[in-house]
Amino acid sequence: MSSEKKSVLILGGGLAGLTAAKRLIDKGFQVKVLEKREIFGGKVSSWKDEEGDWIESGTHCFFGAYKVLYDLLKEIKTDHAVLWKEHQLTYTLNGGERFTFNTWDLPSPLHLLPAIAKNGYFTLGEMAAFSKSLIPLALQKDKYPPTQDHLTFAEWAEQKKFGKRLMDKMFRPMALALKFIPPEEISAKIILDVTETFYRLPDSSRMGFLKGAPQEYIHQPLLDYSASKGAIFKNRTAVDELLYDGGEIKGVQLRNGEIMTADYYLCALPIHNLNKVLPDSLKQHDRFFGGLDNLDAVPVISVQIWYDKEIATDDNVLFSPDGVIPVYANLARTTPDYRTLRGIPFNGKTRFEFCVAPARSLMGLTKEEIIRQVDLSVRNCYPEASRGAQILKATLVKIPHSVYAPTPFMEQYRPTQTTPVRNLFLAGGFSQQLYYDSMGGAVMSANLAVEGIVKEAGLMDS
Ligand SMILES: Cc1cc2nc3c(=O)[nH]c(=O)nc-3n(C[C@H](O)[C@H](O)[C@H](O)COP(=O)(O)OP(=O)(O)OC[C@H]3O[C@@H](n4cnc5c(N)ncnc54)[C@H](O)[C@@H]3O)c2cc1C
Repeated sequence: MSSEKKSVLILGGGLAGLTAAKRLIDKGFQVKVLEKREIFGGKVSSWKDEEGDWIESGTHCFFGAYKVLYDLLKEIKTDHAVLWKEHQLTYTLNGGERFTFNTWDLPSPLHLLPAIAKNGYFTLGEMAAFSKSLIPLALQKDKYPPTQDHLTFAEWAEQKKFGKRLMDKMFRPMALALKFIPPEEISAKIILDVTETFYRLPDSSRMGFLKGAPQEYIHQPLLDYSASKGAIFKNRTAVDELLYDGGEIKGVQLRNGEIMTADYYLCALPIHNLNKVLPDSLKQHDRFFGGLDNLDAVPVISVQIWYDKEIATDDNVLFSPDGVIPVYANLARTTPDYRTLRGIPFNGKTRFEFCVAPARSLMGLTKEEIIRQVDLSVRNCYPEASRGAQILKATLVKIPHSVYAPTPFMEQYRPTQTTPVRNLFLAGGFSQQLYYDSMGGAVMSANLAVEGIVKEAGLMDS
């Protein structure tokens, strides 16, 4: 790069913004990151409460499919912190019933045989009906899901006539775990895309957990790396508006009245915040930006409960179709650094973390009422093991706008990272890439945005 370094202003210090900062600083740009909150990390952020316990925006599972994320973690030398769990999906039901989809270490699709034949819950007839519904997917592979974006997954399943039990017990928690919306709302494309990837790539559905807090193993190492090479990170710095004039971005107006300028601007904001900072003149002028108003974000609630006895012994992610806890884990098993309560070792007991969804009707309820409903779901799933269990501590985080809502017909509005405005780029889970709104998606979107900036700056991408 010439001695005159080009500058990039990154709006938003979530995973996409922090990834982009690292990639750009590695390519020789001057980088500044503006983050509205006190802490970086956005939807994967984590912080210690006043008692010394880590709180997270939400339970984060690492899918084997996110190769771009593991490449990033290798670069900052924290890939060792992803602890891979046994390759299986376990569902817990009311009354203490449970079933597990196991896989075998065989080439696709044979790796799925035990899940179909030996899950111990669905009959062979039900699994055969389901397998039949996937014939178009097996034949057309990744070409098929985009053709089904006009349907909700529930509508697609209705057409395919696979049984209600499969929908209620397997796919409902899966849809809620993936995007916090039920099968009646989620686009069929999403579930089919995920199913196609799991079917084609045996290791893509394996899940891992971080050894501890994302702050310690992802965000701080990313910040330290980029700061050591000259990147500037400003927290508590909210952007109010992009200043658009004469066909390009001239600067950003901060909430504190200041104006900042750069050669390039990369918005790595959640969709609802991006829509707020885009000026009307840009939205009205261009269909690309105008279409973004159609994308919306989903509410979700994260709850942690510490119990005084061990209720679930599973060292893995758990799903539940019943109650309000579609996906959860016993962090005291899955996440070694989290075996604490108020800073004191907490072994042989339970520290559950739950994604509570669908959350729209729960958002207005009190913490006590939501914890009560979560606790009830736990006791229904573990009637024996939870008998006499006392809650020692409970925390709750409400996120009114989390991931973008992938409902039917929304795919067309997901923007590319390169925009019609020469010096404006976008990143974030909602933008177009393989992994939707996820950690893998955030990293991939940042990689693509950086490719666009490098190209625009006339540099060779190595
Ligand atoms: C409860 C929960 C559970 C999840 N579980 C998983 C999981 O198991 N696996 C998985 O892969 N993904 C999971 N996700 C999704 C994943 O967290 C997101 O897809 C990913 O973190 C998105 O990153 P991002 O950088 O695109 O956006 P964000 O993380 O939203 O980052 C955007 C940043 O921009 C900042 N910002 C907003 N407005 C402004 C402004 N005006 N000025 C300056 N800064 C601003 C925000 O504060 C934020 O830090 C989960 C999400 C949630 C909420």
